[in-house]
Amino acid sequence: MVGPAQLLIEAFEARYKSTPDIARAPGRVNLIGEHTDYNLGYVLPIAIDLACHVGCAPNRDGLLRVYSENLQQGREWPVEQIAALKPAADWTDYVIGVARQLTLGRGRDLLIHSTLPLGSGLSSSASLEVAVALGLGWSGELPSLELAQLARRAENEFIGLPSGIMDQYAAVFGRRDAALKIDCRSLECEFVELPARAAIVAVNSMVKHELAQSAYRQRVAECAQAAREIQVESLRDATLEELPLIQDPTALRRARHIITENQRVIDFVAASRRQDLAAMGRLLLASHRSLQTDYEVSCEELDFLVDTAISVPGVFGGRMTGGGFGGCTVNFVEPAAVDRFQETIQKAYRDRFAIDPVFYRVNPSEGASRIS
Ligand code: ADP
Ligand code: MG
Repeated sequence: MVGPAQLLIEAFEARYKSTPDIARAPGRVNLIGEHTDYNLGYVLPIAIDLACHVGCAPNRDGLLRVYSENLQQGREWPVEQIAALKPAADWTDYVIGVARQLTLGRGRDLLIHSTLPLGSGLSSSASLEVAVALGLGWSGELPSLELAQLARRAENEFIGLPSGIMDQYAAVFGRRDAALKIDCRSLECEFVELPARAAIVAVNSMVKHELAQSAYRQRVAECAQAAREIQVESLRDATLEELPLIQDPTALRRARHIITENQRVIDFVAASRRQDLAAMGRLLLASHRSLQTDYEVSCEELDFLVDTAISVPGVFGGRMTGGGFGGCTVNFVEPAAVDRFQETIQKAYRDRFAIDPVFYRVNPSEGASRIS
């Protein structure tokens, strides 16, 4: 078999002259429930069949060596210095952030290769964190909440992004043929089967606006402020009736998105159980409009992709997915209409922005694993 794991083993042997163990962790597409995870609400991601593979073997040099095939860049550190490192503000922070959560003891060589697009809202970062944790010897049984939380801490504490649990949870708990309805407060999850009559197509806008990280922090703060004004611990507990208690009109709109979005996740799951693709499509679009106007994390390119998508016959609905300000949309499309969908979007997007979008037809896939 010449899969990504086999190719990685060969590249590893050529680079480090030893044979690695391989860890794999998938990316995800969030179907609905956006920006709700850090408000302790509901999300509905699927893990996808694009993933990060990490090869790892011990070395005798007392060094942590890492090389990313995607970026064609590598770096190394003495293992005993890891605890004292400061963030470098680049991709190696994901590796060090995870390494600091573990006791390495001896030196390690790491080789990373991801089939995910980096920084496009399909969670290449969480898949990297989880795969690195497994590669560096996190030894518990899979799947494990502890592993997801460890990876999240790396992102929160070392990268410094106050992100929720969704991405790492999906990378660990993903399941073939099911979406995960995660309750981000209890951290329990329900597996939701999706109607077979729809293909799930992610469309990469191929843009990422600078605002993404600062706006994310700002939204986290705005939601916290809204929760304080309503006097609830998190917006998970807020209701539409309480919205008038929020003085600041911006914070009010942010809270309205979170409250309505949590309900849309519940409604989407119910519609999926009824195989009601028309209702699911309407909920996707309502989610997008709420993110566009109330939460204000969309952008011209994402709005264009969604507006074009819903004009194509056979498309049930679509919306931006991930943090926003670029990255991907997710679309539910009749399988027979997928070609027409892609051709229409391709042409319209190129005419409008002079950019070729990239399409990923994704299927719910299993979570992280060790491959021997
Ligand atoms: P997303 O998680 O949606 O892809 P993020 O901005 O959260 O977007 O994370 C992307 C970042 O994660 C990249 O810019 C890079 O720093 C890091 N990263 C992810 N995968 C890899 C990889 N295979 N090699 C090196 N860095 C990676
Ligand atoms: Mg990420």
